[in-house]
Amino acid sequence: MNFLIDFKKSPTLEPFTLQAAQSIHCPNCGSHAERFYLSDRQIVRTQCPKCDYLMITCATSGKVIEAYAPGIYAQPF
Ligand SMILES: [Zn+2]
Repeated sequence: MNFLIDFKKSPTLEPFTLQAAQSIHCPNCGSHAERFYLSDRQIVRTQCPKCDYLMITCATSGKVIEAYAPGIYAQPF
């Protein structure tokens, strides 16, 4: 349930509607991660609870909205 806490910390993601979730492998550490499709703003969110990897992209343009990984931090806006 860490995801709910994290959503509250992300002002760019409110409000949102969770459309679908998918299990993937984390691109940072390779362990189990999850990808969420948020329908309200056409957002795809990938998060790894193990290494704190976070990637939020626009589903329509593919543009990175917010990204975080241990040692890497980027916030375009
Ligand atoms: Zn990871």
